[in-house]
Amino acid sequence: MPAAPGRSCGSCTLCCQVLEIEEFDKPAGTLCSNCKLGGGCKIYKKRPEVCQDFECEWLTERDVAVILNPDRFGALLMIDADSDEYLVVCDPKKPQSWRHPLMFKHLLAKAKEGHVVVAKAGTMAWRVYPNGECAPWA
Ligand code: SF4
Ligand code: SF4
Repeated sequence: MPAAPGRSCGSCTLCCQVLEIEEFDKPAGTLCSNCKLGGGCKIYKKRPEVCQDFECEWLTERDVAVILNPDRFGALLMIDADSDEYLVVCDPKKPQSWRHPLMFKHLLAKAKEGHVVVAKAGTMAWRVYPNGECAPWA
């Protein structure tokens, strides 16, 4: 999917840090060894297909506010391809970023649309319900 107008990854590398990549045994929360912080991927032209295919919701979806830029905000939004859950995955340095009012408003809207919304911070996860309640999620 093309990036939404005016959006690009730029210096953001949050997905290269917070996500698990089974293809090359990269655990969640650890910066990929191919990543130059603030400088992108050192093997960009030869990066694995899983990396080529990944796009966060902020990058492609106009309904995600510009201010929720993953890098600056400290959380990335994505739809889990396996579970279809709508995820917010927090930067380990900002584990509460999903609770920020701007982010929480977006998560509530997604829950009201019918998505199963899940917030992740490290090994912890919470389900966000359409009525604003949150509960630990396995
Ligand atoms: S988190 Fe989104 S904006 Fe940041 S590098 Fe990954 S795809 Fe690009
Ligand atoms: S290979 Fe490149 S694009 Fe893929 S996670 Fe590592 S740094 Fe990011």
